[in-house]
Amino acid sequence: MENIKGIVLKSINYKESSKIIYVYTKNGLISILIHGSNKIKNRYLNIPRLLNYIDIYVSGKNLLTFRDGDILEGYPNIVNDLEKYTYATHILELIYYFSSHEHDHEKLFNFLLKIFDIINKDNNYIPYLNMIELKLLYLLGVNPSLNKCVVCGKTNSLQFSITEGGMCCPEHIQNPYKISNIALEKLKELYFFDLSKDKLSHIDQSSQKEIRFLIDKYYEYHLSIKTESRKLLIGLLGY
Ligand SMILES: [Zn+2]
Repeated sequence: MENIKGIVLKSINYKESSKIIYVYTKNGLISILIHGSNKIKNRYLNIPRLLNYIDIYVSGKNLLTFRDGDILEGYPNIVNDLEKYTYATHILELIYYFSSHEHDHEKLFNFLLKIFDIINKDNNYIPYLNMIELKLLYLLGVNPSLNKCVVCGKTNSLQFSITEGGMCCPEHIQNPYKISNIALEKLKELYFFDLSKDKLSHIDQSSQKEIRFLIDKYYEYHLSIKTESRKLLIGLLGY
């Protein structure tokens, strides 16, 4: 038997009563069959739930099959808050979508655990989830250049551009994106944030919105993705 620790990103019904769960681990995505999960013992019933951090034993070669295990953390304060939960599932969708790309899964996995712990306790959760989205851009190699011109490296009079992939000097800017200076400063703070030593500053509602729109546009343009959860969030957040 093999031990797997990971976060449930997705769960689908399989045949009459089984489920396949997609678990994100430090080695990337792993899919696992849970036989007759509608009938099995009560203590296993909640294992397939999204966002669970689980510690399980599996067996099998081609298709791994669940044998035994526990939920290490269910993040109750995320799951019981519809807005927070939907925002978190938006992140899970992104991770799932890019889980087959070669990138540093261990780094992202450890980062996810830290962020989910924080937002389980903290009601000011949105900036922390934005940090995951920005970190993922970096891991996928499409991160925006934030401190110097994408083309020439100059650091003066820069403007942001989605299509150019970050800041551009007056000579190289072609398609400027409208964002306030304060929102841009906050975006940089989130991008370079060090969880082990930095303290998050206050981000006002309008900057938070601007950052949300910029990340949406950036993902749409460079990675062609808009998640289902993001669409639901519009109804919950109002933007
Ligand atoms: Zn330039």
